[in-house]
Amino acid sequence: MSGESFSQEKLKYNDLTKSESYVIENKGTESPFTGKYVKHKENGTYVCKKCGAALYYSSDKFESDCGWPSFDDEIKGAVNRFPDPDGMRIEIECANCGAHLGHVFTGEGFTSKNVRHCVNSVSLDFVPAHLEPGRYGMAIFAGGCFWGVEYFLQKSPGVISVTSGYTGGHVKNPSYREVCTGTTGHAEAVKIVYDPQKTSYEKLLRLFLEIHDPTQVGRQGPDIGDQYRSEIFYKNEEQKKVAEKLLGLLRAKGLKVATKVTKATEFYPAEEYHQHYYKKNPIRYQYYRSRSGRDDFLQKAWGVQQGTTNTGTKGEPYAKPSDQDLRQKLTSLQYQVTQHEGTEKPFDNEYWDNKRVGIYVDVVSGEPLFSSLDKYDSKTGWPSFTRPLVAANVVEKQDRRLWTTRTEVRSRLGDSHLGHVFPDGPAPTGLRYCINSASLRFVPEEDLEKEGYGDYLKLFEK
Ligand SMILES: [Zn+2]
Repeated sequence: MSGESFSQEKLKYNDLTKSESYVIENKGTESPFTGKYVKHKENGTYVCKKCGAALYYSSDKFESDCGWPSFDDEIKGAVNRFPDPDGMRIEIECANCGAHLGHVFTGEGFTSKNVRHCVNSVSLDFVPAHLEPGRYGMAIFAGGCFWGVEYFLQKSPGVISVTSGYTGGHVKNPSYREVCTGTTGHAEAVKIVYDPQKTSYEKLLRLFLEIHDPTQVGRQGPDIGDQYRSEIFYKNEEQKKVAEKLLGLLRAKGLKVATKVTKATEFYPAEEYHQHYYKKNPIRYQYYRSRSGRDDFLQKAWGVQQGTTNTGTKGEPYAKPSDQDLRQKLTSLQYQVTQHEGTEKPFDNEYWDNKRVGIYVDVVSGEPLFSSLDKYDSKTGWPSFTRPLVAANVVEKQDRRLWTTRTEVRSRLGDSHLGHVFPDGPAPTGLRYCINSASLRFVPEEDLEKEGYGDYLKLFEK
Protein backbone atom coordinates (compact mmCIF):
# COMPACT_ATOMS: atom_id res chain seq x y z
CA MET A 1 0.00 0.00 0.00
CA SER A 2 2.99 2.28 0.05
CA GLY A 3 2.71 2.50 -3.71
CA GLU A 4 5.88 0.58 -4.40
CA SER A 5 7.34 1.73 -7.65
CA PHE A 6 6.81 -0.40 -10.70
CA SER A 7 10.01 -2.20 -11.38
CA GLN A 8 11.23 -2.84 -14.84
CA GLU A 9 14.77 -3.87 -15.33
CA LYS A 10 17.07 -3.39 -18.24
CA LEU A 11 18.99 -6.64 -18.18
CA LYS A 12 22.76 -6.63 -18.53
CA TYR A 13 24.67 -9.45 -20.19
CA ASN A 14 25.93 -12.25 -17.97
CA ASP A 15 29.64 -12.63 -17.33
CA LEU A 16 31.08 -15.65 -19.08
CA THR A 17 33.56 -18.19 -17.85
CA LYS A 18 36.61 -19.00 -19.96
CA SER A 19 35.05 -22.08 -21.53
CA GLU A 20 31.81 -20.19 -22.20
CA SER A 21 33.68 -17.29 -23.74
CA TYR A 22 35.70 -19.68 -25.94
CA VAL A 23 32.49 -20.92 -27.56
CA ILE A 24 30.19 -17.90 -27.31
CA GLU A 25 32.60 -15.08 -28.15
CA ASN A 26 35.32 -16.87 -30.08
CA LYS A 27 33.01 -19.20 -32.01
CA GLY A 28 34.63 -22.28 -30.54
CA THR A 29 33.04 -25.72 -30.35
CA GLU A 30 32.70 -27.83 -27.24
CA SER A 31 33.75 -31.46 -27.45
CA PRO A 32 30.90 -33.72 -28.61
CA PHE A 33 29.03 -35.71 -25.95
CA THR A 34 30.41 -33.50 -23.17
CA GLY A 35 27.75 -30.80 -22.91
CA LYS A 36 25.15 -30.89 -20.17
CA TYR A 37 22.17 -30.66 -22.52
CA VAL A 38 23.09 -33.36 -25.06
CA LYS A 39 20.77 -35.92 -23.51
CA HIS A 40 18.68 -33.47 -21.53
CA LYS A 41 14.95 -34.25 -21.77
CA GLU A 42 13.04 -31.92 -19.43
CA ASN A 43 10.15 -29.80 -20.69
CA GLY A 44 10.98 -26.14 -20.93
CA THR A 45 12.90 -23.49 -22.83
CA TYR A 46 16.58 -23.10 -23.66
CA VAL A 47 17.80 -19.53 -23.30
CA CYS A 48 20.98 -17.73 -24.36
CA LYS A 49 23.70 -18.10 -21.71
CA LYS A 50 24.91 -14.57 -22.32
CA CYS A 51 21.74 -12.51 -22.56
CA GLY A 52 18.87 -14.70 -21.37
CA ALA A 53 16.90 -14.58 -24.63
CA ALA A 54 14.55 -17.52 -25.21
CA LEU A 55 16.00 -19.53 -28.14
CA TYR A 56 14.61 -23.08 -28.33
CA TYR A 57 11.75 -25.10 -26.91
CA SER A 58 12.29 -28.61 -25.62
CA SER A 59 9.46 -29.74 -27.90
CA ASP A 60 11.73 -29.05 -30.89
CA LYS A 61 14.66 -30.98 -29.44
CA PHE A 62 15.46 -34.37 -30.88
CA GLU A 63 18.00 -37.13 -30.49
CA SER A 64 20.58 -36.85 -33.28
CA ASP A 65 23.47 -38.86 -31.83
CA CYS A 66 25.85 -36.18 -33.08
CA GLY A 67 26.98 -35.26 -29.54
CA TRP A 68 25.42 -31.79 -29.32
CA PRO A 69 21.88 -30.70 -28.44
CA SER A 70 19.83 -30.74 -31.65
CA PHE A 71 16.68 -28.81 -32.47
CA ASP A 72 14.65 -28.83 -35.66
CA ASP A 73 13.20 -25.36 -35.07
CA GLU A 74 14.02 -22.15 -33.21
CA ILE A 75 11.80 -19.69 -31.41
CA LYS A 76 10.64 -17.26 -34.08
CA GLY A 77 13.14 -14.46 -34.61
CA ALA A 78 15.52 -15.65 -31.89
CA VAL A 79 18.32 -16.99 -34.08
CA ASN A 80 20.31 -15.37 -36.89
CA ARG A 81 22.09 -17.31 -39.63
CA PHE A 82 25.40 -16.41 -41.30
CA PRO A 83 27.48 -18.37 -43.81
CA ASP A 84 30.82 -19.42 -42.30
CA PRO A 85 33.85 -17.80 -43.93
CA ASP A 86 34.64 -21.19 -45.49
CA GLY A 87 31.27 -21.07 -47.24
CA MET A 88 30.59 -24.66 -46.17
CA ARG A 89 28.37 -24.23 -43.14
CA ILE A 90 25.78 -21.84 -41.77
CA GLU A 91 26.64 -20.38 -38.39
CA ILE A 92 23.86 -19.55 -35.93
CA GLU A 93 23.89 -16.71 -33.41
CA CYS A 94 21.58 -15.36 -30.74
CA ALA A 95 19.64 -12.62 -32.56
CA ASN A 96 19.71 -10.43 -29.48
CA CYS A 97 23.35 -10.46 -28.39
CA GLY A 98 25.25 -12.21 -31.17
CA ALA A 99 26.34 -15.11 -28.96
CA HIS A 100 27.68 -17.95 -31.08
CA LEU A 101 25.40 -20.95 -30.75
CA GLY A 102 26.65 -23.47 -33.33
CA HIS A 103 25.57 -24.34 -36.86
CA VAL A 104 22.42 -25.22 -38.69
CA PHE A 105 22.18 -28.03 -41.22
CA THR A 106 19.43 -28.96 -43.65
CA GLY A 107 18.56 -31.99 -45.72
CA GLU A 108 19.80 -34.60 -43.26
CA GLY A 109 16.37 -36.16 -42.83
CA PHE A 110 16.40 -36.43 -39.04
CA THR A 111 12.89 -35.05 -38.64
CA SER A 112 10.06 -34.00 -40.94
CA LYS A 113 11.27 -30.39 -40.77
CA ASN A 114 14.60 -31.59 -42.16
CA VAL A 115 16.57 -29.02 -40.14
CA ARG A 116 19.15 -29.51 -37.42
CA HIS A 117 20.30 -26.68 -35.18
CA CYS A 118 23.49 -28.14 -33.75
CA VAL A 119 24.02 -26.06 -30.61
CA ASN A 120 26.76 -26.00 -28.01
CA SER A 121 25.37 -26.79 -24.55
CA VAL A 122 27.65 -24.15 -23.15
CA SER A 123 25.80 -21.45 -25.12
CA LEU A 124 22.53 -22.41 -23.44
CA ASP A 125 20.82 -22.28 -20.11
CA PHE A 126 17.68 -24.24 -19.39
CA VAL A 127 14.49 -22.90 -17.84
CA PRO A 128 11.88 -25.47 -16.79
CA ALA A 129 8.98 -23.40 -18.15
CA HIS A 130 7.50 -22.44 -21.50
CA LEU A 131 8.81 -18.92 -22.11
CA GLU A 132 7.40 -16.39 -24.51
CA PRO A 133 9.99 -14.90 -26.90
CA GLY A 134 12.09 -12.28 -25.12
CA ARG A 135 14.82 -11.93 -22.53
CA TYR A 136 14.78 -13.27 -18.99
CA GLY A 137 16.77 -12.49 -15.89
CA MET A 138 18.45 -14.98 -13.63
CA ALA A 139 19.42 -14.79 -9.99
CA ILE A 140 21.19 -17.31 -7.76
CA PHE A 141 20.84 -17.11 -4.00
CA ALA A 142 21.84 -19.41 -1.15
CA GLY A 143 20.11 -18.94 2.18
CA GLY A 144 19.89 -22.20 4.07
CA CYS A 145 17.92 -25.24 3.09
CA PHE A 146 16.71 -24.57 -0.43
CA TRP A 147 13.16 -25.77 0.25
CA GLY A 148 12.30 -22.70 2.25
CA VAL A 149 13.99 -20.23 -0.08
CA GLU A 150 12.27 -21.81 -3.06
CA TYR A 151 8.91 -21.67 -1.31
CA PHE A 152 9.01 -17.95 -0.66
CA LEU A 153 10.56 -16.86 -3.94
CA GLN A 154 8.25 -18.98 -6.06
CA LYS A 155 5.32 -16.95 -4.75
CA SER A 156 6.81 -13.61 -5.77
CA PRO A 157 5.24 -11.86 -8.81
CA GLY A 158 7.31 -12.04 -11.98
CA VAL A 159 9.15 -15.18 -10.91
CA ILE A 160 8.89 -17.79 -13.66
CA SER A 161 10.78 -20.68 -12.18
CA VAL A 162 12.80 -21.54 -9.13
CA THR A 163 15.16 -24.48 -9.29
CA SER A 164 16.81 -25.91 -6.20
CA GLY A 165 20.40 -26.97 -6.57
CA TYR A 166 24.02 -26.66 -5.58
CA THR A 167 26.67 -24.15 -6.52
CA GLY A 168 29.87 -22.54 -5.34
CA GLY A 169 31.79 -25.74 -4.71
CA HIS A 170 34.64 -27.65 -6.29
CA VAL A 171 33.06 -30.99 -7.17
CA LYS A 172 31.33 -31.62 -10.49
CA ASN A 173 27.73 -32.87 -10.48
CA PRO A 174 27.50 -33.31 -6.72
CA SER A 175 24.69 -35.34 -5.18
CA TYR A 176 22.59 -34.23 -2.23
CA ARG A 177 24.37 -36.78 -0.07
CA GLU A 178 27.77 -35.40 -1.06
CA VAL A 179 26.71 -31.81 -0.49
CA CYS A 180 25.33 -32.78 2.93
CA THR A 181 28.74 -33.95 4.04
CA GLY A 182 29.78 -30.31 3.81
CA THR A 183 33.00 -31.23 2.06
CA THR A 184 32.18 -30.33 -1.56
CA GLY A 185 32.18 -26.61 -0.91
CA HIS A 186 28.73 -26.21 -2.46
CA ALA A 187 25.90 -24.25 -0.97
CA GLU A 188 22.28 -25.29 -1.23
CA ALA A 189 21.01 -22.61 -3.57
CA VAL A 190 18.13 -21.63 -5.80
CA LYS A 191 18.28 -20.44 -9.38
CA ILE A 192 15.50 -18.01 -10.14
CA VAL A 193 14.37 -17.10 -13.63
CA TYR A 194 12.27 -13.97 -13.75
CA ASP A 195 10.48 -11.66 -16.14
CA PRO A 196 12.26 -8.28 -16.05
CA GLN A 197 9.02 -6.58 -17.12
CA LYS A 198 7.36 -7.64 -13.89
CA THR A 199 10.10 -7.69 -11.30
CA SER A 200 13.79 -6.97 -10.96
CA TYR A 201 16.94 -8.42 -9.51
CA GLU A 202 16.87 -5.85 -6.75
CA LYS A 203 13.31 -6.67 -5.80
CA LEU A 204 14.08 -10.38 -5.61
CA LEU A 205 17.23 -9.78 -3.63
CA ARG A 206 15.35 -7.61 -1.14
CA LEU A 207 12.84 -10.41 -0.70
CA PHE A 208 15.61 -12.97 -0.32
CA LEU A 209 17.17 -10.85 2.44
CA GLU A 210 13.84 -10.78 4.26
CA ILE A 211 13.17 -14.51 4.16
CA HIS A 212 16.37 -15.77 5.67
CA ASP A 213 18.72 -14.57 8.35
CA PRO A 214 21.75 -13.02 6.66
CA THR A 215 23.57 -12.67 9.96
CA GLN A 216 23.97 -16.38 10.62
CA VAL A 217 27.36 -17.85 9.80
CA GLY A 218 27.66 -21.34 8.33
CA ARG A 219 24.13 -22.29 9.22
CA GLN A 220 20.49 -21.29 8.91
CA GLY A 221 18.27 -22.03 11.87
CA PRO A 222 18.72 -25.64 12.90
CA ASP A 223 20.49 -26.51 9.65
CA ILE A 224 24.14 -26.40 10.51
CA GLY A 225 26.96 -26.63 8.02
CA ASP A 226 28.70 -24.57 5.42
CA GLN A 227 26.25 -25.78 2.74
CA TYR A 228 23.57 -23.69 4.49
CA ARG A 229 25.55 -20.47 4.36
CA SER A 230 24.10 -17.20 3.12
CA GLU A 231 25.56 -16.24 -0.24
CA ILE A 232 24.65 -14.24 -3.31
CA PHE A 233 26.04 -15.56 -6.58
CA TYR A 234 26.08 -12.71 -9.07
CA LYS A 235 25.87 -13.20 -12.83
CA ASN A 236 27.26 -9.80 -13.78
CA GLU A 237 28.73 -6.60 -12.34
CA GLU A 238 25.31 -4.95 -12.16
CA GLN A 239 24.00 -7.70 -9.87
CA LYS A 240 27.14 -7.44 -7.76
CA LYS A 241 26.55 -3.70 -7.33
CA VAL A 242 22.95 -4.24 -6.26
CA ALA A 243 24.03 -6.93 -3.80
CA GLU A 244 26.68 -4.75 -2.25
CA LYS A 245 24.29 -1.84 -2.02
CA LEU A 246 21.63 -3.84 -0.16
CA LEU A 247 24.10 -5.54 2.17
CA GLY A 248 25.53 -2.09 2.87
CA LEU A 249 22.07 -0.91 3.90
CA LEU A 250 21.78 -3.86 6.27
CA ARG A 251 25.16 -3.13 7.80
CA ALA A 252 24.15 0.49 8.20
CA LYS A 253 21.23 -0.77 10.28
CA GLY A 254 23.75 -2.36 12.60
CA LEU A 255 23.43 -5.94 11.39
CA LYS A 256 26.50 -8.14 11.25
CA VAL A 257 25.92 -9.45 7.77
CA ALA A 258 27.49 -12.81 6.99
CA THR A 259 26.21 -13.03 3.43
CA LYS A 260 28.99 -13.53 0.91
CA VAL A 261 28.90 -12.01 -2.57
CA THR A 262 30.52 -14.31 -5.10
CA LYS A 263 30.72 -14.58 -8.86
CA ALA A 264 28.33 -17.28 -10.05
CA THR A 265 29.82 -20.53 -11.27
CA GLU A 266 28.18 -23.71 -12.49
CA PHE A 267 24.77 -24.36 -10.94
CA TYR A 268 23.81 -28.01 -10.55
CA PRO A 269 20.07 -28.67 -10.25
CA ALA A 270 19.27 -30.90 -7.30
CA GLU A 271 17.79 -34.34 -7.71
CA GLU A 272 14.21 -34.26 -8.95
CA TYR A 273 12.73 -35.25 -5.59
CA HIS A 274 14.04 -32.02 -4.04
CA GLN A 275 12.33 -29.75 -6.57
CA HIS A 276 9.17 -28.09 -5.27
CA TYR A 277 9.57 -30.06 -2.08
CA TYR A 278 6.90 -28.01 -0.34
CA LYS A 279 4.35 -28.94 -3.00
CA LYS A 280 5.13 -32.63 -2.94
CA ASN A 281 5.46 -32.91 0.83
CA PRO A 282 3.27 -30.27 2.44
CA ILE A 283 3.21 -31.94 5.83
CA ARG A 284 6.91 -32.54 6.05
CA TYR A 285 7.52 -29.05 4.75
CA GLN A 286 5.41 -27.52 7.48
CA TYR A 287 7.33 -29.60 9.97
CA TYR A 288 10.61 -28.52 8.52
CA ARG A 289 9.52 -24.93 8.46
CA SER A 290 8.29 -24.91 12.03
CA ARG A 291 11.71 -26.11 13.12
CA SER A 292 13.69 -23.89 10.83
CA GLY A 293 13.59 -20.73 12.83
CA ARG A 294 12.85 -18.86 9.63
CA ASP A 295 9.55 -17.55 10.95
CA ASP A 296 11.11 -16.71 14.30
CA PHE A 297 13.68 -14.67 12.48
CA LEU A 298 11.07 -12.82 10.48
CA GLN A 299 9.21 -12.02 13.65
CA LYS A 300 12.24 -11.03 15.67
CA ALA A 301 14.35 -9.15 13.18
CA TRP A 302 11.89 -7.59 10.81
CA GLY A 303 8.73 -7.62 12.87
CA VAL A 304 6.98 -9.62 10.19
CA GLN A 305 4.30 -11.91 11.45
CA GLN A 306 3.85 -15.12 9.55
CA GLY A 307 0.80 -17.05 10.65
CA THR A 308 0.69 -16.12 14.29
CA THR A 309 -1.51 -18.12 16.59
CA ASN A 310 -3.06 -15.55 18.88
CA THR A 311 -6.48 -17.08 19.33
CA GLY A 312 -7.98 -14.61 21.74
CA THR A 313 -8.41 -15.02 25.45
CA LYS A 314 -10.93 -17.52 26.72
CA GLY A 315 -14.30 -15.94 27.31
CA GLU A 316 -13.67 -13.18 24.80
CA PRO A 317 -16.56 -12.91 22.40
CA TYR A 318 -14.36 -12.72 19.32
CA ALA A 319 -11.74 -15.37 18.74
CA LYS A 320 -9.60 -16.51 15.87
CA PRO A 321 -10.72 -19.85 14.40
CA SER A 322 -8.19 -22.58 13.62
CA ASP A 323 -6.16 -22.29 10.48
CA GLN A 324 -8.09 -25.18 8.96
CA ASP A 325 -11.38 -23.41 9.60
CA LEU A 326 -10.00 -20.19 8.18
CA ARG A 327 -8.98 -21.86 4.98
CA GLN A 328 -12.56 -23.06 4.57
CA LYS A 329 -14.26 -19.91 5.72
CA LEU A 330 -12.18 -17.30 3.88
CA THR A 331 -11.65 -16.72 0.19
CA SER A 332 -8.06 -17.16 -0.88
CA LEU A 333 -7.67 -13.38 -1.07
CA GLN A 334 -9.08 -12.90 2.43
CA TYR A 335 -6.76 -15.61 3.69
CA GLN A 336 -3.74 -14.17 1.95
CA VAL A 337 -4.39 -10.65 3.21
CA THR A 338 -5.30 -11.43 6.81
CA GLN A 339 -2.90 -14.29 7.43
CA HIS A 340 0.05 -13.40 5.23
CA GLU A 341 0.05 -9.61 5.22
CA GLY A 342 -1.11 -9.51 1.63
CA THR A 343 -2.42 -6.43 -0.12
CA GLU A 344 -5.43 -6.47 -2.39
CA LYS A 345 -5.73 -4.45 -5.58
CA PRO A 346 -6.82 -0.81 -5.24
CA PHE A 347 -10.17 0.20 -6.82
CA ASP A 348 -10.94 -3.48 -7.29
CA ASN A 349 -12.11 -4.52 -3.86
CA GLU A 350 -15.39 -4.77 -2.06
CA TYR A 351 -15.57 -1.66 0.11
CA TRP A 352 -13.31 1.07 -1.27
CA ASP A 353 -16.37 2.84 -2.64
CA ASN A 354 -18.94 1.60 -0.13
CA LYS A 355 -20.95 4.56 1.19
CA ARG A 356 -23.57 2.67 3.15
CA VAL A 357 -24.13 3.27 6.85
CA GLY A 358 -22.89 0.59 9.22
CA ILE A 359 -19.80 -0.91 10.77
CA TYR A 360 -16.87 -2.95 9.55
CA VAL A 361 -15.85 -6.02 11.52
CA ASP A 362 -12.87 -8.34 11.28
CA VAL A 363 -13.66 -10.94 8.61
CA VAL A 364 -11.79 -13.49 10.75
CA SER A 365 -13.00 -12.88 14.30
CA GLY A 366 -15.97 -10.54 13.89
CA GLU A 367 -14.61 -7.96 16.31
CA PRO A 368 -15.84 -4.43 15.46
CA LEU A 369 -13.11 -2.34 13.87
CA PHE A 370 -14.35 0.69 11.93
CA SER A 371 -17.50 2.64 11.25
CA SER A 372 -18.92 4.34 8.19
CA LEU A 373 -18.90 7.57 10.21
CA ASP A 374 -15.10 7.70 10.02
CA LYS A 375 -14.78 6.53 6.44
CA TYR A 376 -13.64 8.96 3.79
CA ASP A 377 -12.54 8.93 0.18
CA SER A 378 -8.75 8.97 0.21
CA LYS A 379 -8.53 8.44 -3.58
CA THR A 380 -6.20 5.50 -2.98
CA GLY A 381 -8.70 2.83 -3.96
CA TRP A 382 -8.77 1.22 -0.51
CA PRO A 383 -11.29 1.79 2.29
CA SER A 384 -9.85 4.60 4.41
CA PHE A 385 -10.82 5.71 7.90
CA THR A 386 -9.64 8.50 10.16
CA ARG A 387 -9.89 6.34 13.26
CA PRO A 388 -10.95 2.93 14.53
CA LEU A 389 -14.42 2.34 15.92
CA VAL A 390 -13.07 0.46 18.92
CA ALA A 391 -9.54 1.68 19.41
CA ALA A 392 -8.61 -1.26 21.59
CA ASN A 393 -9.40 -3.67 18.79
CA VAL A 394 -6.97 -2.12 16.34
CA VAL A 395 -3.38 -2.78 17.27
CA GLU A 396 -0.55 -0.79 15.78
CA LYS A 397 2.62 -2.55 14.99
CA GLN A 398 5.79 -0.91 13.85
CA ASP A 399 6.43 -2.58 10.53
CA ARG A 400 10.17 -2.97 10.83
CA ARG A 401 10.52 -4.77 7.59
CA LEU A 402 13.82 -3.88 6.18
CA TRP A 403 12.81 -1.72 3.29
CA THR A 404 9.76 0.06 4.60
CA THR A 405 8.84 2.43 7.38
CA ARG A 406 5.16 1.79 7.73
CA THR A 407 2.97 1.18 10.69
CA GLU A 408 0.97 -1.96 10.27
CA VAL A 409 -2.46 -2.28 11.86
CA ARG A 410 -3.86 -5.61 13.00
CA SER A 411 -6.98 -6.69 14.81
CA ARG A 412 -6.36 -7.52 18.46
CA LEU A 413 -8.28 -10.77 18.89
CA GLY A 414 -8.33 -12.11 15.37
CA ASP A 415 -4.73 -11.01 14.88
CA SER A 416 -5.60 -10.31 11.26
CA HIS A 417 -3.45 -8.11 9.15
CA LEU A 418 -5.72 -5.18 8.24
CA GLY A 419 -3.51 -2.67 6.47
CA HIS A 420 -1.43 0.31 7.51
CA VAL A 421 -1.90 3.68 9.16
CA PHE A 422 -0.33 6.78 7.66
CA PRO A 423 -0.03 10.30 9.09
CA ASP A 424 -1.54 11.98 6.02
CA GLY A 425 -5.26 11.75 6.80
CA PRO A 426 -7.85 14.52 7.18
CA ALA A 427 -9.23 16.10 10.36
CA PRO A 428 -10.04 15.35 13.06
CA THR A 429 -7.16 12.88 13.61
CA GLY A 430 -4.86 13.53 10.67
CA LEU A 431 -4.59 9.79 10.27
CA ARG A 432 -5.35 7.53 7.35
CA TYR A 433 -6.17 3.95 8.20
CA CYS A 434 -5.65 2.31 4.83
CA ILE A 435 -7.43 -1.02 5.14
CA ASN A 436 -7.90 -4.01 2.89
CA SER A 437 -11.54 -4.78 2.13
CA ALA A 438 -10.53 -8.43 2.28
CA SER A 439 -9.87 -8.08 6.02
CA LEU A 440 -13.32 -6.66 6.64
CA ARG A 441 -16.95 -7.64 6.69
CA PHE A 442 -19.48 -4.85 6.42
CA VAL A 443 -22.56 -5.01 8.65
CA PRO A 444 -25.18 -2.46 7.54
CA GLU A 445 -27.07 -0.46 10.12
CA GLU A 446 -30.28 -2.42 9.60
CA ASP A 447 -28.55 -5.75 10.36
CA LEU A 448 -26.62 -4.67 13.45
CA GLU A 449 -29.22 -5.93 15.92
CA LYS A 450 -29.70 -9.36 14.41
CA GLU A 451 -25.96 -9.83 13.87
CA GLY A 452 -25.24 -9.21 17.54
CA TYR A 453 -23.85 -5.69 17.16
CA GLY A 454 -26.94 -3.94 18.56
CA ASP A 455 -24.81 -1.87 20.93
CA TYR A 456 -23.53 0.10 17.96
CA LEU A 457 -26.98 1.17 16.74
CA LYS A 458 -26.81 4.27 18.88
CA LEU A 459 -23.86 5.46 16.79
CA PHE A 460 -26.20 6.14 13.95
CA GLU A 461 -29.14 7.67 15.83
CA LYS A 462 -30.10 11.03 14.43
ZN1 LIG B 1 21.94 -13.80 -26.45
